[in-house]
Amino acid sequence: MKVIIFIILIYLLYKIIKTVRQLKPSGNKYDQFQSSSSSGEDLVEDPVCHTYVPLSQAYKKEISGKNYYFCSRQCGEKYQLEKNNQTP
Ligand SMILES: [Zn+2]
Repeated sequence: MKVIIFIILIYLLYKIIKTVRQLKPSGNKYDQFQSSSSSGEDLVEDPVCHTYVPLSQAYKKEISGKNYYFCSRQCGEKYQLEKNNQTP
């Protein structure tokens, strides 16, 4: 009888380890970002720092009737300032 209890304990331990291992990657935010960007989502280029960002995570800004996408708000404002300086 003792052997059976031991086997059950080992089996439960194995199941716990397996579930913990399955939960670990989904809990990582960086992994989620990596998988979403590689799943065929449209990438847009930031015209300021030339970084490629997924469309859903890009900072959208409308400058003189055209839509531009940036990696961050700072890049968007920087681009708008440069545009304003170019046109007198
Ligand atoms: Zn940028």
